[in-house]
Amino acid sequence: MIFICDIMLGRLSRYLRMLGLDAPCVKGPVFSEIFECGGEPPYFFTKRQKCLTYERTVRIRSDRVMEQLEEILPIIAPHVIPDAVMSRCIECNVPLVAAAREDVEHHVPEYIYHHYAEFKQCPSCKKVYWGGSHTGKMKKWIEDIITNHR
Ligand SMILES: [Zn+2]
Repeated sequence: MIFICDIMLGRLSRYLRMLGLDAPCVKGPVFSEIFECGGEPPYFFTKRQKCLTYERTVRIRSDRVMEQLEEILPIIAPHVIPDAVMSRCIECNVPLVAAAREDVEHHVPEYIYHHYAEFKQCPSCKKVYWGGSHTGKMKKWIEDIITNHR
């Protein structure tokens, strides 16, 4: 499932990517053909009021990202897979690849390098991710989604 975010929902798209969801950002209204890839048609999250002819458009009401997530929780929760959490670049929406520890040494803080054994890297922007990349609060929130909304 693809969850397309309107460009004005950039923060929301980053949270969805953090959950491992495929969440590209688009500038204009969505035409399903663009993202049609054999599976179910994608959802389109937007704050736009007009010109919404695409049938899977979901209008977001809140301006605050955590409230936006609450609004779409029933839609996204069934698609959150625990193993896929933090498997995608938050900036690029590209799946991360495993990176050798020695290769990331100069791209992460020294403390991080010494405290984590496994690293992942975005093949597009080269950003490095590790087990503690998301905060404890975020982790708790993700666990809550997985246990309470599936
Ligand atoms: Zn990236």
